[in-house]
Amino acid sequence: MTPPLSRAEAEVFERFHDAVFVRDMEGTIHFWNSASAALYGWPSHTALGANARTLLKCKHGCDAHSTADAQVLADGYWEGELSRLTGSGDRRLVNARWSLLKDAGGNPVGILETGYDISSAKDLERHLKASEYRYRNLFQAMAASFWELDFTAVGPKIRALLDAGVRDLEPYFLAHPEVVRDMMQSTRVLDLNDHSLRLFGRGDRNEMLGTIDRYWPDESIQVYARCVVKSLAGLPNNIEVTRLRTLEGNVFECLFTACFSKENLARGVILIGIIDLSELAAARHALEIMQTELAHVARISILGELSASITHEIKQPLTSISTYAQAALRWLKRPQPDLQEVENALLQIIGEAQRTDDVIGRIRAMALRRPAEETQVSLNEVVQDSLKFTDHELRKHSIRLTLDLTGALPPVRADRVLLQQVIVNLVMNAAQAMASANRSPRALTLRSDCPDGRQLRIEVLDSGPGIAPGLEDKVFQSFFTTKSTGMGMGLPICRSIIEAAGGQIRMANREDGQSGARVTVTLPGLAVSA
Ligand code: ADP
Repeated sequence: MTPPLSRAEAEVFERFHDAVFVRDMEGTIHFWNSASAALYGWPSHTALGANARTLLKCKHGCDAHSTADAQVLADGYWEGELSRLTGSGDRRLVNARWSLLKDAGGNPVGILETGYDISSAKDLERHLKASEYRYRNLFQAMAASFWELDFTAVGPKIRALLDAGVRDLEPYFLAHPEVVRDMMQSTRVLDLNDHSLRLFGRGDRNEMLGTIDRYWPDESIQVYARCVVKSLAGLPNNIEVTRLRTLEGNVFECLFTACFSKENLARGVILIGIIDLSELAAARHALEIMQTELAHVARISILGELSASITHEIKQPLTSISTYAQAALRWLKRPQPDLQEVENALLQIIGEAQRTDDVIGRIRAMALRRPAEETQVSLNEVVQDSLKFTDHELRKHSIRLTLDLTGALPPVRADRVLLQQVIVNLVMNAAQAMASANRSPRALTLRSDCPDGRQLRIEVLDSGPGIAPGLEDKVFQSFFTTKSTGMGMGLPICRSIIEAAGGQIRMANREDGQSGARVTVTLPGLAVSA
């Protein structure tokens, strides 16, 4: 029996945006509006007379359809989701509503279905669920601490500050750390991952929720302040290395990242990530100690090499002191003591004693084991002090020294003793290279300048054999040596000292037509304040 659908009803359904079609109790389609044609891809001349189940190949199969049929027969209505095949072979998820049509006698004659496509809405939901799942996974699985903070209570406090006329928040927060502390007490932990429990907590999640100021030592308070300032300025994040505190009260170094996404800010939420750097900091500290130790050992070893020169330097004034003392005695023992001569001899003794004192002081500074201490240093002074150590060594090997130091150079920031160690090492290497080559004349030039106005340069040029091609970098590797009693640690230590001061050291052969090696040290010059 043909389902009753008046012409007027058909015209109304034709205008519907939803797909509307009517089928009889056997499934044959008797009405098919344009929206059905658009949704399912079958024109009305194909759909009309066709069987709805065959045409639309419902994915849920006959059972689901039969249950729906039974329900619509019993209740007169059914609503649900159906996955259907379109004329172009795509599957579409359709939200369908069925109404039972009856004849005048109340007998079921057909089903009127209205439906609309929910495929993209379902896709979106699936996508959101997957992304939520991924986010949760990342939140939990990463070896970093993640926190979700609620700062809704901070907004009114900032507004009150702005209303009170505070224009520049950054200096205000610097001057009023108690205001920052108060804002922290109003910022609450909404959620955190398991890694945060391990890093900051004692295993109890609930203990960790609540205000965040417990995790911020006073020294890091401005990190929070900068987060406020940057988020208000519309910046996307604030990243800095800082120190935070665990619930047990241990303060540790960490990389702190706060993320101010617009979506989160609108909800009064910010996300922060924290990576523990304490192991890295401990490793860095151990490395610094090792470098200091190594540099010290190397200095002692240079002093060992210089022992003949040191003995000579100390012996010389001692001999003079003895000579002047004997002369003074002679002047005193005369029948007519010459007190003027005695005074002269005593003044010489004081001078020589001072010289000895200077030598011992210099050696003591070199021999002392102490952490590096950076100060403003004049490179020319360092060169001259270093040459006092090597003076005798150069004379011993008949090496002619040329000093070509440019005056009024800007200072550098470095440890004076370590720089001295570098220069002494380079001069000793040059002296040894020239002595081993057995050719004359032996000439050493030390030059200082500032070619580009910013980088200071020291060059050590010798007239030795130079270095074999390809060894320019190798000589800076630990334990590389061509000497029978060498350790191969001098140049690597020089490099670590110079690089720690922000400079560079290079070795090459001379390019001025003379044979020999050229070592170039560059260091950043400091701006001289007026
Ligand atoms: P060591 O002096 O114990 O050998 P260094 O690290 O100071 O250790 O030097 C490594 C090597 O670099 C030396 O053995 C030598 O081969 C080369 N070298 C260093 N300075 C010079 C130089 N002025 N001329 C030629 N070779 C040099």
